[in-house]
Amino acid sequence: MPPKTVSVTGFKNSGKTMVVEALVKELSTRGRRVGTLKHTADDIDLDTPGKDTSRHRDAGSIATGILQDNTTALFIDERLSIHQAAEKLGMIDILVIEGFKTVDTHARVIVPREDGDVEKLSNGLEIATVKIPGSRYTGAALTLDDATKIADIVEKKAYPMLPGLDCHSCGYDDCKSMGAALLAGEAELSQCVGYRTDGALKVNGVDVAMGNFVRDIMKNVVLGFIKSLKGGEKARKVEISFEVIDDE
Ligand code: SF4
Repeated sequence: MPPKTVSVTGFKNSGKTMVVEALVKELSTRGRRVGTLKHTADDIDLDTPGKDTSRHRDAGSIATGILQDNTTALFIDERLSIHQAAEKLGMIDILVIEGFKTVDTHARVIVPREDGDVEKLSNGLEIATVKIPGSRYTGAALTLDDATKIADIVEKKAYPMLPGLDCHSCGYDDCKSMGAALLAGEAELSQCVGYRTDGALKVNGVDVAMGNFVRDIMKNVVLGFIKSLKGGEKARKVEISFEVIDDE
């Protein structure tokens, strides 16, 4: 199962990183494998100019890795979607995202700088509000001393990131509405095309919505072939993957 996902959302200099640190520390102490993602609009060089990886990239490498005994860094010279980036993090239990306030595919913790911020940052998927020292926000909120409570809320309420297709296949208008229903306990994750157990399709690594008619036909045709194969007679879960050659 993909990791439960929560974003820590706030305006610039609201203290988001402090909340991420507190949350990651608490979840890690509980033995959870935690991953993080952050977006930066700043045009800063993430590599060190003149170092080997930078020289590899200057020479034309579009994907460069550097490995140490306990750390691996990847430089991928293209903009990945948040879903693609999350997949690169590997096997984690919980994904904590800093920022990405316009993305509605997962639950969020709001970090307000001042009154009015909560209203501006609310999208129906908020599960907690956390106020850091120095914040001018006067409403009710948890604080950094409540890391245990914040982690409890995240563990209880957060759900795996939805695909962001806004395809209606789950019965809701968009992923945000489906997320709100998940938080309210009114929907099941398996309603989403990305998590259906009765047939899911990915093309180029991205979830694709299928109607029931197409799903049933594809499933029945594929299963018919598989059951005729030696070893396929008792198929319980089928995964198919193939590359499409240009002239196919
Ligand atoms: S089926 Fe999944 S991807 Fe489509 S709108 Fe619902 S939650 Fe979003």
